[in-house]
Order: sequence, then C-alpha cells, then structure tokens
Amino acid sequence: MEYRRLGSAGLKVSELSFGSWVTFHSQLDDRRALDCIRVALDSGINFFDNAEGYAAGESEVIMGRVFKKLGVRRSSYCVSTKFYWGLHEGPNEKNTLNRKYLMQAIDGSLARLQLDCVDLVFCHRPDPHTPIEETVRAMSDMVTQGKALYWGTSEWSADQILEAWRVADRHHLHKPQMEQPQYNLFVRDKVEREFSSLYSEIGLGLTTWSPLASGVLTGKYNKGIPKGSRASLSGYEWIAERVMAKEKLDVVRQLEPIARELECTLGQLAIAWCAANRNVSTVILGASSSEQLRENIQSCAVRARLTPEVMGKINAIVTE
Ligand code: NDP
Repeated sequence: MEYRRLGSAGLKVSELSFGSWVTFHSQLDDRRALDCIRVALDSGINFFDNAEGYAAGESEVIMGRVFKKLGVRRSSYCVSTKFYWGLHEGPNEKNTLNRKYLMQAIDGSLARLQLDCVDLVFCHRPDPHTPIEETVRAMSDMVTQGKALYWGTSEWSADQILEAWRVADRHHLHKPQMEQPQYNLFVRDKVEREFSSLYSEIGLGLTTWSPLASGVLTGKYNKGIPKGSRASLSGYEWIAERVMAKEKLDVVRQLEPIARELECTLGQLAIAWCAANRNVSTVILGASSSEQLRENIQSCAVRARLTPEVMGKINAIVTE
C-alpha cells in the first residue's frame, strides 16, 4: 500500500481507503463490518470514510463500535464525517451549512463514533443559502476546537472551493484542504479539468468516491441486476437506472479484453486507473463483503501494469 499526502497537507493517507455508504447497516451488520475493517487494516488502509447521513447516523454508530471492539490505536487510522443533509426536519437541521447546524452536527457525530475528534470533516454539498464566510468560520472553528483535524468539501465546484479558500486566507482561518468528488472511468471532468489549477495553486487533496460507479465497472450488471446487489436494494431504484444504462454497459464490455490482458478483474482495472492519477490522494472503496474488499485491494498491484500504452487503450474507450 502506498501512502500519499493529502494535497499540500502533511497527513498521509493510503492510496486506497474504505467507505461505508449504502453498506454499513443495510448490508453489513457489526460483525461483517468488523471483518471488512480488519481486512482493510491488515492491508495497510488507514482512512475510513463516513458521513452523518449514511444510514441516518447508524453507519457512524457501527464504525465507532467496531473500532472500539478492535482496540485499534487511534493514531494509526483516520476517520471522516460529512455534514449537509442532517438527521432531523427543522429549518436549521437539514440541507444547510449554517453555523448552528454545523457546530451541533459535529458533536453528534463524535458521540456516535465514540471519538474525541475526526481526522477529516467535509461539507457534503455546497449550500447556496448560507454566506460562505459563515460556513468557513464554522469549519475552521471545528478545527480550532480540536473536533476535526482537516476540513474540506464534497462535490463543490472549483470556484466555490477557491472562494472558501480565499475567505479563510483573508481572515487567517483554517483553509479547506481536500475535496471529495466522484471519480471513475465514467466521471472524469471535475478531477481532470475543472480542478486542474487547484492542485498546485492551493494544494488541494482529493478523496475520490465510487471508483466502480456503484459496481457497474465490475461487469456484474452486464447480464441484468444480480440479487442482493446495490441496484436491487429497495430505495436505490435510481442506482438501478444508472447502472443499467446501455452506453455504460457497452464501455464495460469493451474494457474486458484489457483486464484479461493485464490478468486482473475489471473492478481491479477500474480502481487501479483511479489510483494512477497522482492528483488523487486516496480512492475510497466500497464493498458489501470482505471478499469484495480483498479483491479490490489487489488493485494496488495492478496499478504498475497501467503503462502509457495500456492507458491509451483505456482512454480510447472511455473518452467523456
Ligand atoms: P464503488 O463505486 O466502488 O461501489 C461499491 C459497490 O460495488 C459495493 O458496495 C458492491 O455493491 C459493489 N462491489 C464492490 N466491489 C465488488 C467486487 N469486487 N465484485 C462485485 N461487486 C463489487 O464505491 P461506492 O459507491 O460504495 O463509494 C465508495 C465510498 O465513497 C462510499 O462508501 C462513501 O464513503 C464514499 N462516497 C461519497 C460520496 C459523497 O458524496 N462524498 C457519494 C458516494 C460515495 P453490491 O455488492 O451491493 O452490488
């Protein structure tokens, strides 16, 4: 496992990390989540991604219990959370990044995770109804109070990130250090084009999500929706529509010979391709079983096989 700096920060994160969206609580109970976290730790993964909104807080509860049970040294791993959607219906409790919500949300997450501080905290989406300075001050205060070590954004535009960074710079506040965008063979524009000046200009780090586009890049949806897969879960019908899109399945089929040539699975090829981008600090994996996670972690070894020639072949298939 390679460790990469989170942009210009000193923090080192494993090139692959493990996240809990969809899986913790609905597919993985404490025992199976523990199996996955153990596999991740044994492979050198040191970053675990979470959010207040995952399974309405239950994902944080499970992750907190599992780390307690495993008795892992706190300094050896990093945990994140994210805020925006909230857990309750009140005007200051959902769809906001206002100061009141943020300052109370972090206390709720820390209690559920049984931690004194999270390593990374993200604004899960931008909030057009709160002045950027209010949000930046609240996130910076979380860091000053020792409740989080680094703060960043998720699915913000380059302009929004730059504005937040400039506000922080002007007022000597803690600056946003990382962004969490979707990045995979189907979704490339933000990471490869829109953010391109931010890596050197403000030292932005990236923790990227959905490397398998919810599983479609494993090829598992080529013959329909398998029982028990994410797209078969109730409440995730919108994912079923996305993973069954003909143009995506066509791309997956075209990638198959390349994976065969590299003697790896399609999923490993897709994950290794994300990690091959040096602006990516860590690729957040998702898995509904420890077997899947084991397979996916092997993509570290596949990355070295992505020669310029192989990358050329892949890019010829997936040009956006
Ligand atoms: P992926 O795109 O990698 O999808 C993971 C899912 O694909 C698994 O849960 C599993 O679903 C299937 N899968 C994974 N490996 C295999 C395999 N080897 N064989 C067959 N099927 C496999 O990642 P996620 O979409 O889960 O995103 C990863 C993490 O990123 C999340 O956990 C979360 O932490 C973060 N994230 C952040 C977002 C944000 O807005 N900031 C948004 C979304 C995710 P199944 O078995 O059920 O089919």
